[in-house]
Amino acid sequence: MTSKPTTAFALSIVGGIFVLLGGLSVMMLGAILSFLPILGKGIALVGDIGALCGVVMLVGGALMYVMPDRHLIWGILVLVFSILSWVGAIGGFAIGFLLGLVGGILGIVWKPSGVAVNVNLRNVASQGHQQAVAQMQGTCSNCGSPLPSGAKVCSACGVPA
Ligand SMILES: [Zn+2]
Repeated sequence: MTSKPTTAFALSIVGGIFVLLGGLSVMMLGAILSFLPILGKGIALVGDIGALCGVVMLVGGALMYVMPDRHLIWGILVLVFSILSWVGAIGGFAIGFLLGLVGGILGIVWKPSGVAVNVNLRNVASQGHQQAVAQMQGTCSNCGSPLPSGAKVCSACGVPA
């Protein structure tokens, strides 16, 4: 079983929802101001971009959970689009931006717990090996075989140590 970046996933999803709401608010503002010839359409377009940032953050957060092996890409995606959300989604009322920022960074630095276990096992194996080496004391003067500490006779050639 591989672990999941659950915290990064949750923060990215909630941040994405706030950014999406921020983008929709800007789109609504554009609709209200649609009587203005250029400004109304401009604001609506910017709101579209903001809402898109929220959607990308939601997808990035979801992919952190679905494909945690590629957490680096999804973390960067969430991080970048949470910053971009200031353009068209008022940074998801700042909350979406902050959640996306933290969620993205947590996604980038996340380490699967399976890897940590492997490292620990390797350390244990290496310690065992070092102990085995430490128990060998010197080599046989006749054939050069390593002698265990306290050995009276060489196990390889039978010559007294
Ligand atoms: Zn020997």
